[in-house]
Amino acid sequence: MDPYSGTLIVKEKFDNDLTMGGKMAISSELLEILVCPKCKEDIQLTEKKDGLICRHCRLIYEIRDDIPIMLIDEARPLDDV
Ligand SMILES: [Zn+2]
Repeated sequence: MDPYSGTLIVKEKFDNDLTMGGKMAISSELLEILVCPKCKEDIQLTEKKDGLICRHCRLIYEIRDDIPIMLIDEARPLDDV
């Protein structure tokens, strides 16, 4: 017996993950593609997960409504830490 094995390959759920408007925190995948707009270095999530830190520039980019505000003018200096 040689059943017709499924050769259909359906490519779905490829772009959906990135465009989903669901409520979800900043994902690690998003963090990987996000860089500091000033120096283009990698950024890191704060402990409170309310901002993204660029150690290079010593700036904190706020996260509002799960959307990181990647604007140099909106960034706060990282003086406290
Ligand atoms: Zn930077």
